Amino acid sequence: MSQDGSPTGIEVSKFFEVRQTQYGRACFASQDIPKGVEILISNSPFATVILHEFRKEVCSSCFGYEYGKYCKVKLTDLPEFKSNKKFRGAGLWFCSEKCMEDWLKFDSKGELTQAFETFLEFYQTKTKSPAPETTEFNPKITTEYIELYWKDIEDWESKASKMKKTKLLGKLPYLDEDEYTGARLIIHALYNIYQNHESLETFKELQTNELQKVGRFPALLRSQASIYQVLKTILPDYLQPFLTIETIRLIFGREYGNSFGTWQLVDDKSSENKEFLGYSLFPEASFFNHSCSPNLKKYRKVNRMHFQTTADIAKGEQMCIDYFHMLDESLMVRQEVLSKNWFFECACDRCDEEFRSESYQVKPPPKQIY
Ligand SMILES: [Zn+2]
Ligand SMILES: [Zn+2]
Repeated sequence: MSQDGSPTGIEVSKFFEVRQTQYGRACFASQDIPKGVEILISNSPFATVILHEFRKEVCSSCFGYEYGKYCKVKLTDLPEFKSNKKFRGAGLWFCSEKCMEDWLKFDSKGELTQAFETFLEFYQTKTKSPAPETTEFNPKITTEYIELYWKDIEDWESKASKMKKTKLLGKLPYLDEDEYTGARLIIHALYNIYQNHESLETFKELQTNELQKVGRFPALLRSQASIYQVLKTILPDYLQPFLTIETIRLIFGREYGNSFGTWQLVDDKSSENKEFLGYSLFPEASFFNHSCSPNLKKYRKVNRMHFQTTADIAKGEQMCIDYFHMLDESLMVRQEVLSKNWFFECACDRCDEEFRSESYQVKPPPKQIY
């Protein structure tokens, strides 16, 4: 597994170095590490989101999931919010009083809650009217097309800045449930950037998949622009300086290949029996490559990701995780899922070996990033 590379200067853990290899960034052990050592505990996420479908079922603090039961605790239960009849609960649900208290401690000034509430008010008002018919949007995506599309949004922005807000609100695009989820992810990220301007820096180091992702799903470009237009119009002033076209493209371009899913395994570990509840971004934990025979396991504890060695690792060896809980799948399934979701052909030792085995008369992909 060893592939040399030059150090990037990104320091994440004393146990490994992030190096620039021919195929991108990768993590290499900086010392011999025995099996069972925790080599990284992430910071709290740069951004996290629960899918619209599960918003009432997953706790906003601990991500606990009660198998389809609604969470019982809402901010509207608190006296300070109860008196405000208009308050909608900011789209936050909690599994317990304790989790709600944790949220209030985390967002002690209520700023993030306010931003979520403002967005929810827009969303619920807009979705009272029936959704407009979706028009075909399937252009041939090139880098130039993406640039021009965003240039139009920039032009919209300069016109919008001269318009009355009430008029502008009426003209904003309708957001669907996926866009609701995307917008909440962006709001959370902007709040974190506002709290700590440095938090964007590590995220910037990750590889962008904007062209591949939008190329495969052109409608995402329109969705991202709609989210930008809505947030640019409605978000509170304190977040506005951080909301730029550059930042929203940076986040959406990188989130897809670098997010950690919040999963609830139902009954067993087979891939059909798990629910994808949402996802989080942990930039400092995103430099690990995938391998179908990984030497690290990852697990979430509340809102942190933990990484532990599952084998003895020698100094200089690459440290890899499994991206998709799919180690029991066949070679072809693994290859397909990785190329569809992460835009690469896995050429890890295991795939390489299986490609060469008698059961597959297919040429293995060239040895490259994994
Ligand atoms: Zn909870
Ligand atoms: Zn593989």
